[in-house]
Amino acid sequence: RGHSPEGEGEPPAKKLGGDVGVVVEHYNARPEVGVVQRQESPIIGLKNFNNWVKSVLITRFAHPALAAGAGSAPSNGHVRGRSSGRTSSGKVLDMGCGKGGDMTKWAKARVKELIGVDIAAVSVDQARSRWESLRAPKFAATFAAVDCYTTSLSKVIPPARLAEPFDVVSMQFCMHYAFENVQKARCMLENVSRWLRPGGVFIGTIPNADLLLSQLDAIPPSQEDLSFGNSVYKISFESRDRRPIFGHKYWFFLKDAVENVPEYVVHWDNFVQMAAEYHLNLLYMKEFHQVFEEHQEHPEFKPLMLRMKVVDDNGESAMDEDQWEAANIYIAFAFEKQR
Ligand code: SAM
Repeated sequence: RGHSPEGEGEPPAKKLGGDVGVVVEHYNARPEVGVVQRQESPIIGLKNFNNWVKSVLITRFAHPALAAGAGSAPSNGHVRGRSSGRTSSGKVLDMGCGKGGDMTKWAKARVKELIGVDIAAVSVDQARSRWESLRAPKFAATFAAVDCYTTSLSKVIPPARLAEPFDVVSMQFCMHYAFENVQKARCMLENVSRWLRPGGVFIGTIPNADLLLSQLDAIPPSQEDLSFGNSVYKISFESRDRRPIFGHKYWFFLKDAVENVPEYVVHWDNFVQMAAEYHLNLLYMKEFHQVFEEHQEHPEFKPLMLRMKVVDDNGESAMDEDQWEAANIYIAFAFEKQR
């Protein structure tokens, strides 16, 4: 397979602060680009598709939970109408919120209050600025820079902001960084579950462990370089060993997005079992390609694909083959907190 010339070479040397330091430095350094410049990204089709998947997930699972408020929530993940987004008034925790890329999605969901936390302080400042420049309807928001995988949110979020529970916790493209070790994964789950109301929903997107590991297994035993990918992405595993179950590390490169950042495999069954210990029960899990197949003819999500420039006016995909392949690195999930 061909690899992009960008991001090639050895994984970055560990800096002070270990892998976390590399992650923080990487995300803090990523420039904030405007809407116009963003459209010039060589992988804009893939970026738009990822955003569309997040919108589907939020509309299907977060809107009903927000609308329901305390006391009820979706029981089976059926697609609800658009109106559910208009009437909601609940509270969201966006953990690993980055630069606030989902802010307009939350505004559309008519959230009453958002708490956005991320380890990258520069990104958190950008998220806050994005919120400040949002046009009405405005919602209350609190932002904080915090390592959500080593620190209880109660240490950084004022108690008054945590007094009323969340209806939704969202972790988009960030949860896998917690799987460096069991302590971090547990701290993350504690932060997810502790202030989520019974019947509230936990949604997220993470790399697809089964796909990653099957690609790893396909590398011939004689080959020392444990890398695979295409012109858009590259994944380089440290080891073939699947044990221990935490800290199974690889470096991830995604063109115009992620520059060889250390990440960890989220072994799915292990994660679901752990989540159950935190009273989180699985509602939904699909590969991104499946999310597309499920919703491509949906009366709301099909036109949304056009509006979000996932397809053009002729219905042609904005992604080339390599972007489409890279899209399926991820899975989308939803859990419900036990009532
Ligand atoms: N959720 C945002 C989105 O979908 O646009 C940002 C996703 S970005 C790929 C991953 C984010 O995870 C980065 O902003 C990074 O700083 C954050 N992150 C990584 N480790 C973290 C930690 N220990 N605590 C909080 N955030 C973390």
